Amino acid sequence: MKNKQVCLASRPSGWVTPENFSVREAEIGEPGDGEVLVKNLFMSVDPYMRGRMNDVKSYIPPFQLGDVLQAGVVGEVVSSKYDELSEGDHVTGMLGWENYSIADGRTLRKLPPTKAPLSWHLGILGMPGMTAYVGLTQIAEAKSGEHLFVSAASGAVGSVVGQLGKILGCRVAGSAGSDEKVALLREEFGYDAAFNYKSSDSLLQSVQEVCPQGVDVSFENVGGEQMEAVLWCMRDFGRIALCGMIADYNAEEPPPGPRGMMLMIGRRLTMRGFIVTDHPEACEEYVVKAIQWIADGKLKYRETITEGVENAPQAFIDLLKGGKTGKQIVQLA
Ligand code: NDP
Repeated sequence: MKNKQVCLASRPSGWVTPENFSVREAEIGEPGDGEVLVKNLFMSVDPYMRGRMNDVKSYIPPFQLGDVLQAGVVGEVVSSKYDELSEGDHVTGMLGWENYSIADGRTLRKLPPTKAPLSWHLGILGMPGMTAYVGLTQIAEAKSGEHLFVSAASGAVGSVVGQLGKILGCRVAGSAGSDEKVALLREEFGYDAAFNYKSSDSLLQSVQEVCPQGVDVSFENVGGEQMEAVLWCMRDFGRIALCGMIADYNAEEPPPGPRGMMLMIGRRLTMRGFIVTDHPEACEEYVVKAIQWIADGKLKYRETITEGVENAPQAFIDLLKGGKTGKQIVQLA
């Protein structure tokens, strides 16, 4: 049996294309001392991977040309030379875009027993859900009665942010890129109001319409013009949790802006960027709470599943262009 792997063939300039990837076959290999052979069942494609395709220094090292790309993976242990994991255990970790990975056992986390499907550990019970919790509770410190606005609101992170906002007692509004996604926000994820930014004539007016009393907490996933529109709607002492700026990820030159930064002073605003992995304790706390919220029907979840590692590049490209609903997952086995 061979391993199928996806490698970085070239670095994108602007939008990612299928030519930036190559697919190859390789031997599966045997784990050494302290290592584990994992059969990868599901992998995650995420917006941050776009940054790793560039050869720039960041909080996480860039992918290297010719190497197998990395992703959050859920898999099953096939054989183990690491004392704390055994054959059949389900684990998660940063593994490859491939069907089998050999990993240092210390880098894997054994999954807690839950009734949730395994793929959920890459979404609502994984990094995107944790990001929503960290950004909302630790960074923005959202409180009951506050007005929350979320961009990319129907995505893996945004859909959880809105629901957590409702659990905290906030009024929640958001934006997404199609009428279907806007309906999902209102009907499934409990958003009080939402708009389709692609059909909006004026982003400022749209934000004002969905947040008639202004915004205390902005959970920023997009940046660019949407961020600027929300800035003008911030209330005094508002907080902006800078989670992501996907509108800029494929830009060839960093765009200027946002305009209106003087508002930060007059309205005494706080803007704070964060990286979820800096907050391991809050992440652990979230998973325990989320399992209960899911069981109580308070947290709902949507995912789009693409089959086959060779289709992971297209799933990633679709994710960047908004061509999926909820969390984008690739099923490997
Ligand atoms: P999503 O599941 O939300 O997928 C990305 C979505 O962003 C797309 O599907 C699309 O949805 C929307 N989008 C793409 N381009 C634009 C654009 N130009 N303007 C507006 N919306 C756009 O991804 P995640 O939930 O995983 O991630 C959301 C954000 O959070 C990203 O910016 C990501 O980088 C960031 N992030 C940050 C982390 C941290 O630790 N700081 C950790 C995890 C994620 P639509 O159809 O609505 O346009």
